[in-house]
Amino acid sequence: MGSDSKCNKCGGTTFKEGMLGSGHANVKEIGMNLQSGSRVVVTFCLECGEIVSMRVAYPEVFKRSVGAASFEDGDS
Ligand SMILES: [Zn+2]
Repeated sequence: MGSDSKCNKCGGTTFKEGMLGSGHANVKEIGMNLQSGSRVVVTFCLECGEIVSMRVAYPEVFKRSVGAASFEDGDS
């Protein structure tokens, strides 16, 4: 993974990861009454704070309930 990502705002190349919310800002599946859910990890520029990436920390949490939601994948 030799990605030399740059910040869109300032062109900085120093990034840091952080967690969004420490317990109360978890991502939870809509309609599901999950106890834990998953935290959100953000990668942000250390220079200006621009968030360059945002992801769910533990997507596997949601895999258990795959099929509950109906995603339509028709590309008409
Ligand atoms: Zn920046």
